This record gives sequence, C-alpha cells and structure tokens, in this order.
Amino acid sequence: MSLEENIQKVKENIAAAAREVGRDPAEITLVAATKVQSDETIRAAIAAGVTICGENRVQEMTAHLDADAYAGAEVHFIGHLQTNKVKNVVGRVELIESVGSEHLLEAIDKQAAKLGIVQDVLLEVNVGDEESKSGVAVDELEALARRACELPNIRLRGLMAIPPVAGEDGNRGFFREMHQLFVDIKRKMAHNENDINCLSMGMSGDYMDAVREGATLVRVGTALFGARPPMRPAAE
Ligand SMILES: *Cc1c(COP(=O)(O)O)cnc(C)c1O
Repeated sequence: MSLEENIQKVKENIAAAAREVGRDPAEITLVAATKVQSDETIRAAIAAGVTICGENRVQEMTAHLDADAYAGAEVHFIGHLQTNKVKNVVGRVELIESVGSEHLLEAIDKQAAKLGIVQDVLLEVNVGDEESKSGVAVDELEALARRACELPNIRLRGLMAIPPVAGEDGNRGFFREMHQLFVDIKRKMAHNENDINCLSMGMSGDYMDAVREGATLVRVGTALFGARPPMRPAAE
C-alpha cells in the first residue's frame, strides 16, 4: 500500500475504534512518528493529510526543521530529552510530549522564559512501572503536575505514555489506567482544567485499543511508513 493509503487506513481505523465506544472521531488526532524518515517522505505525509509529526531525536528534528520539511503541520517532540538539548526544542515545537522529571520541566520553563513564550508540555507517565523506561512514576505524577502548573512559562496540556510492549492481553489495561490518571489530574488541577485535554497513547500495534480507552493523540510510525531499519544506539 502507498503512504497515502496507509494514512487513510489508519485514520479510518481510528474513527472506527472511536465510534465503537461512542466517541466522536474528531476528538482524536494522528501523530505521525516520523523518526528516520526523509524530508521528502515527511512532506508527502503532510500532503496526504498528516497534521502532526512526532520526533524523538533532537538532531534529526532540527535538520528537518531547518529544511522546512514540516511546513503545514505541527511538530511534537516525543523522545527522551536531555536538559542540555532543551534549547534546541523549546519554542520550535508545538508540544513536548515526553517530560518525566522536575529537573527537565524546570529547564524547559527557564528556556521558555528566556524566549518570552509559554511551552506546552505533556507529562510522560511510566505506567508499566518499568525500570528501563523514562517517565514519572504513577505515585509521583500529581506532585509533578502541580509543579508544572506553578511554572509560569509551562502550560500543562495532559499526559503521555509508552506502555510495555503488548503481551497477550495487549496494553488495554494500561490505557485504561492512563485514562483514569488523566481524568484525576484534570480534576485535581482545577485551575488548569481547560488546558488539560491531551492524552497521548497508542502506537502501530495498539492504537485502536488506545482510542477505545480515551486517547486523544495516537503516535503511529510503522503502520504509516513501514518497518524502520534497526535503531542505532541512542547517541543523545
Ligand atoms: C517510534 C515511536 C512511536 C511509533 O512507533 P510505531 O510502533 O512505529 O508505530 C510512538 N511513540 C514514540 C515515542 C516513538 O518513538
């Protein structure tokens, strides 16, 4: 299938999963995970209806930004962000989805203040409680959300998760747990309730289940672009 057909198919699947549970498909936006894709492929994806590109490597993203490859779409940073790279990301993307620590939150706030902007962020939750994963622990989420709401140059927009690679029952239980955390945080951060409207979860293997459990953003790479070459070890 062509890229255009894949995009169409994934959007149809999102809409079908939404309708199954009585949700309006317009509540969900596809984020194309464009890591390792070329400027040309990114432009083709946007021409075919992708409205948000998700990037997880600062260097790659910067090169695409400099080439104006994302013209016509938003960019979300979805990868592990080191504090020394914050200056390359803040103000250059609409949303940083992967903030899992107070240290990083404060670095983003500081850089945003320097630029005179407010940076939208999601808090990444380590919902599977996996040692290898970044993200804030479930029992520390509320404190981090409170900190995010205090920082003047940060706007908390919601939560993101990368659950464990799906086992026999898939990740549906984790998605359900994430939705509950999302509802709780929204209620607890009452002053910021209207800003908190993003729940980013679900990838190629499980985005329909994520939609069934309340995702508003699904991050899909392989199902759009095909299999990626094996990742080189992360250098950043
Ligand atoms: C690559 C990536 C995705 C998409 O993964 P696929 O399985 O290819 O759909 C989603 N989220 C993050 C954070 C990623 O790095």
